[in-house]
Amino acid sequence: MTLLAELVATSQRVGATSARLSKVRELANGLRALEPDEIETAVQYLSGELPQGRFGVSYAMLQAAPQVPSASAPTLQIAETDRRLAEIAQLRGAGSAARRAAALSELFALATESEQQFLVRLLVGELRQGALAGVMVDAIAAAADVPVARVRRAAMYAQNLGAVARTAMLEGADALARFQLELFSPVAPMLAQTAADVTEALTELHGSAAFEWKLDGARIQVHKSQDVVRIYTRTLNEVTGAVPEIVEAARALSARELILDGEAIAFDTAGRPHPFQITMRRFGRRLDVDSMRETLPIRGYFFDCLRLESESLVDRPARERFAALAEAVPEALRVPQLVTDSAPEAQAFYEAALAAGHEGLMAKSLDAPYEAGNRGASWLKIKKAHTLDLVVLAAEWGHGRRSGKLSNLHLGALDPATGEYVMLGKTFKGLTDAMLAWQTKALLARETHRDRYTVYVRPELVVEIAFSDLQVSPRYPGGLALRLARVKRYRDDKRPEEADTMDAVRRIASNSG
Ligand code: AMP
Repeated sequence: MTLLAELVATSQRVGATSARLSKVRELANGLRALEPDEIETAVQYLSGELPQGRFGVSYAMLQAAPQVPSASAPTLQIAETDRRLAEIAQLRGAGSAARRAAALSELFALATESEQQFLVRLLVGELRQGALAGVMVDAIAAAADVPVARVRRAAMYAQNLGAVARTAMLEGADALARFQLELFSPVAPMLAQTAADVTEALTELHGSAAFEWKLDGARIQVHKSQDVVRIYTRTLNEVTGAVPEIVEAARALSARELILDGEAIAFDTAGRPHPFQITMRRFGRRLDVDSMRETLPIRGYFFDCLRLESESLVDRPARERFAALAEAVPEALRVPQLVTDSAPEAQAFYEAALAAGHEGLMAKSLDAPYEAGNRGASWLKIKKAHTLDLVVLAAEWGHGRRSGKLSNLHLGALDPATGEYVMLGKTFKGLTDAMLAWQTKALLARETHRDRYTVYVRPELVVEIAFSDLQVSPRYPGGLALRLARVKRYRDDKRPEEADTMDAVRRIASNSG
């Protein structure tokens, strides 16, 4: 049986190092030392999750609990901690708040001071961080000695990482195939890298590809079981109520069970696509859906089929998923697609997409599985305007009308070779007053230090930047600078790990140079 103290020590060692590899090593060592029955709980605790979810432990209760004298030596085991927390989570009804507080104090009395601190942070959700999940996936793969890709795939479909760890460590890689996409449990969508043009896309995808119009709307995942339809965004929020037209269209499809991937987009009265910002009005917080439906109708266009009837298709090659899509969804509800090995044909298709007011094309490998949550090389976007999703590293105080606001943004991209952000340029163009107000707050909340003109921040905010080209510049650390950069929009749907890296930047530079 493993002591909670050992898990706390692992957690502290992981927190004390910023090097990803050391974090992975510490976690993997911690996992290897566990008994089989402890794996699931320990992985959840180390990822900052509770098996019971967040339950009604109030902040006041937690402030009182550590006042309980701590144990002088560690005796609490992981299993015992889990059993007690599960009991506390189950207390309901009259007087349950007092009983919870009492049970919590009892648990805290068994804990040493550092265990108490760990429990408080676990209970308030402070240990949970996005980046930790990725590190944990690597650690599980190392501890179980299975390929990272298999663990990552299972983690996308599993309800919790603990179950994935347990299966990987006790049953091995093949058993991970058991984790599958389930109806009404949305999965992080597959993402794309960038290609300069159709010729480059064809080369990268080995000579032949499916080209599709790239619509600049909002990603949607539609789940259907008979008459029940639910729709989720790219960040897996449910938006069913906001888009009744798409719900009705999905309900009318004859398949009983379906999971579709697509894009929702609003069109103007002339049938031209609205810009992204206008489409997004359909997803605002307080909406009069009925009148919106009149003034800003929206439609869903689908480009992938992840499940047809009882069969999950995610691990099948794209050509089979496209066949299933064609079977389940009429052409009018599908994104226009052209499968070809001819660059001139693809180029003509690209020009038709632009002429219809769309962003460009997506080029997709015909053989690749659906890589949920992954920005892999089997989907490539080809856009007319150069854009990059960059990370804000700092911002300068504005002048005149913008004084008191953080304005000129310092933009950077991660260099995967060094793990450091490389600054590529600055811009304040394209920022509206509302964006200035928002970013000033958001940036100050991430401040690390400042000098007279500039506030430096943790690299957490992703912003989409349009620019004319990349110039060779000895003044910038990466030797490249953005020219005529302009903010298109904040990408609050993207984490910094999902932003473009220096590899993408160098690729654009070498193509336009
Ligand atoms: P980006 O957000 O610029 O990395 O481009 C990827 C996004 O393009 C996806 O998340 C979708 O929302 C959108 N998109 C539009 N059309 C397609 C398409 N045919 N296939 C895949 N994604 C598409």
